[in-house]
Amino acid sequence: MSEEMRKKRVAVIGGGLVGALNACYFSRRKYKVDVYEMRSDIRKVEVVRGRSINLALSVRGREALKMVEMEEEVINKGIRMYSRMIHDRDGTLRIIPYGRKDQYIMSVDRRHLNEVLLTAAEKNPDITVHFEHKLVNCDFNTGEIVLKRSDGTIVKDVVDAIIGCDGAFSAVRNQIMKNTLFNYQQEYIPHGYMELNMPPTASDEFAMAINHLHIWARNEYMMIALPNQDKSFTLTLFMPFNIFDSIKTEDDLMNFFHKNFQDSIPLIGEKELKQMFFKSKAFPLISIKCSPYHIGNKALIMGDAAHASVPFYGQGMNCGFEDCLVLNDLLDKHRDDIGAAFEEYTKVRTIDAQAICDLSMYNYIEMRQSVNSCLFLLRKKVDNF
Ligand code: FAD
Repeated sequence: MSEEMRKKRVAVIGGGLVGALNACYFSRRKYKVDVYEMRSDIRKVEVVRGRSINLALSVRGREALKMVEMEEEVINKGIRMYSRMIHDRDGTLRIIPYGRKDQYIMSVDRRHLNEVLLTAAEKNPDITVHFEHKLVNCDFNTGEIVLKRSDGTIVKDVVDAIIGCDGAFSAVRNQIMKNTLFNYQQEYIPHGYMELNMPPTASDEFAMAINHLHIWARNEYMMIALPNQDKSFTLTLFMPFNIFDSIKTEDDLMNFFHKNFQDSIPLIGEKELKQMFFKSKAFPLISIKCSPYHIGNKALIMGDAAHASVPFYGQGMNCGFEDCLVLNDLLDKHRDDIGAAFEEYTKVRTIDAQAICDLSMYNYIEMRQSVNSCLFLLRKKVDNF
């Protein structure tokens, strides 16, 4: 078979949100794609450990889903959020719209989204998803990748290009780092996050107004809530680890909630709140900037592997989805000359992705603090929290 006739082979490392979508993009370009995911198939397990139960999907992410005809399926199961609903300490509620009356972001279930994307990928005969395959090594000269299966056995493969969509602690990025002049910056913020649940009411209704992203902004810390399809809300409490650590007893917890998030207590349930809080733990938040994203025509990192951001701008996944769209356009432009597309990708994408990291850091202050200022009420924003 001539080189032109042979389908190019791409290994997508990571079958999370960005990896699964990226596989769909590559298969549309007639590449043969193998997705290697270290976890087991999330469609077959009861509990999926990982970050945030739901996410805010915005226009940036929707555009990328639209291109591979996945938008409708995803948004059918999403809940529109037209505004922020600010909960003041005294129980006063204030609405801050995201933009015009018809503009909104959507609350989507992370697991559902990942499942839908994996199923769409697997429908394509040119995509094979290998679960329980962890990338342990790659050779950027030969395109060889080495994977460890969950039973400990080692598998090798040789591909034309390796696409690292393996998240904030990317193994592909670690390998790139060793093989090129690589700039890398990571920052853990002092705040961690913990997820709590607000169930539906006894009459099976949402406990709060549905079409908003609820925010309890308390300057040094905050809590947010996004609606779920099952009429519950997922609450995320963001605060410095030393405050999490200072809450040692049920009384500490209830005093803290009475002082800060009084109106949420009856809606969560006191007993449930105590149980959830002491059963859970706070997770760290990291921001990562790096460059370049590629190494020759052999490897590229995308999504959180290239630009993990703190979640306050609600754009991490959205930006990762947009990465797929940007690369696709560049492959069009360069007629599938992978090396040329990768090189231009690093050039154009680094600035934008690093801007998202910076805006996410900025919004960290805006969400917990600035929404409490009068000036903020005069400003309108679209496409972020
Ligand atoms: P991940 O989702 O991390 O997926 C990486 C995949 O790679 C995983 O499946 C992992 O198992 C696999 N993997 C890792 N290492 C290997 C290996 N060596 N070999 C094989 N597989 C491997 N973003 C938004 O846009 N909107 C939001 O509202 C939002 N809310 C958030 C809330 C919180 C609390 C947090 C923490 C993040 C939030 N984000 C949000 C960000 C979003 O979660 C990430 O940007 C997104 O998950 C990135 O997707 P990804 O596929 O790049 O990485």
